[in-house]
Amino acid sequence: MDDCQFVSDLIEARRDDWIAVSDAIWDYAEIRYEEFRSAEMMAQVLEREGFAVDRCAGGIDTAIVASYGRGNPIVAILGEYDALSGLSQCANQLTKKPLVPGGNGHGCGHNLLGTGALAAAIAVKEYMDAHGVKGTIRYYGCPAEEGGGGKAFMARAGLFDDVDVAFTWHPWSHNEACNATMLATCQVFFKFVGKSSHASGSPHLGRSALDAVELMNVGANYLREHLTQDARLHYAVVNPGGRSPNVVQAEAEVLYKLRAPKMGEVREILDRVVEIARGAALMTGTEMSRQFDAASADMIPNVTLSSLMHRKFQEIGVPAYSEEEVAFAKRIQDTFSEDERKALVAKGGKVIADEIDPFSAEPTFLAGSSDVGDVSWIVPTAQVNVATWAFGTPGHSWQIVSQGKSSIAHKGMLLAGKVMAASAIDVMRNPSLIDEAKVEHATQLSGETYQSLIPAETVPRPISRFQPV
Ligand SMILES: [Zn+2]
Repeated sequence: MDDCQFVSDLIEARRDDWIAVSDAIWDYAEIRYEEFRSAEMMAQVLEREGFAVDRCAGGIDTAIVASYGRGNPIVAILGEYDALSGLSQCANQLTKKPLVPGGNGHGCGHNLLGTGALAAAIAVKEYMDAHGVKGTIRYYGCPAEEGGGGKAFMARAGLFDDVDVAFTWHPWSHNEACNATMLATCQVFFKFVGKSSHASGSPHLGRSALDAVELMNVGANYLREHLTQDARLHYAVVNPGGRSPNVVQAEAEVLYKLRAPKMGEVREILDRVVEIARGAALMTGTEMSRQFDAASADMIPNVTLSSLMHRKFQEIGVPAYSEEEVAFAKRIQDTFSEDERKALVAKGGKVIADEIDPFSAEPTFLAGSSDVGDVSWIVPTAQVNVATWAFGTPGHSWQIVSQGKSSIAHKGMLLAGKVMAASAIDVMRNPSLIDEAKVEHATQLSGETYQSLIPAETVPRPISRFQPV
């Protein structure tokens, strides 16, 4: 029996276990750095399988690193389990219907991501036992991918330093070995403190922090014209200073998210935004302070590993879907907006992706960011994207949450586990592939080393600790 068949059988034999874990994490729907139950569930499963589990890895409450075996090669499989705020949604519904009004939901499918990775790590362990393969398989439970840069903090703590190669995946609406670059990013809070006063009776005595936020945003919007084509600048006013227009706002805060193709460019844009914030404070007679939140690095693609994942993906193949599954996906597509439907047609108009996209050795560009980027700077890293929902389902949407417990999602998750496990086993059995991936990695970096964008004093924090009163 070949390796792909062997790991596929292992994962299928325990499909009910993996579906139960994924569905439980969907239910927990915990957001950045609050994934206590999700991380603990992963840790307990891994312990039962004989993995040595490091909870609070790198001093991060909801990060885990679980190892099985010993010595090199050390192969990492990266999992995530954080949800998104405000996206609570009942499962398997065709309309937007929150399960908990204002609650969280798995709008990026990380319940599937973390569990598919878990199934992969355990299948590799079982394969190692059955075939006497030497080396270490490691499951990384990475918190706070959504805006929290969990892997960047884990990387800063040195948790990936001894790893040889890393594999991961993402739930998606089509099937591909992802050979792409992505944008580096950072998030910084800017807080302004002024002086309150009666806005009509004594306006001359007030110093408005909200004015400072507004002027900062005007300045930043003028900066936009002078950024490079692929740079991005977004902001959210997280504290407008209260709800009373007749009070001059004494405090206000805005969160900036900056993106650019390289970490160095993000640093330069941040320096300019800080100057704009200083200018806004000067104009309004307020005090400005800033708090770095999180960052993630740009993605270093690795063709050696991504083409390996593509081969394994092809060997394993995509699942068949029942008439009910196709009908459900079609009805989900019926909920798309006119524009989303147009985009769907432009992309090929499928109901559920039923083939693997061709592999291109030339990296594509994705205008998003991921903290997998930080890992990719330290070790050769590759990722597959696997269909887990109706073709064209918009990202971070109620439709993703609705489909997160569906049989389509479960099939995609198990498939991703098989592809990652088969790829991990391949490099463990053929260490020359690891050498090749490392040579390519070194060439890509051309002497540069990983420098985290996160200042030394910044610690990972749940978003709730930033919320204004
Ligand atoms: Zn995601």
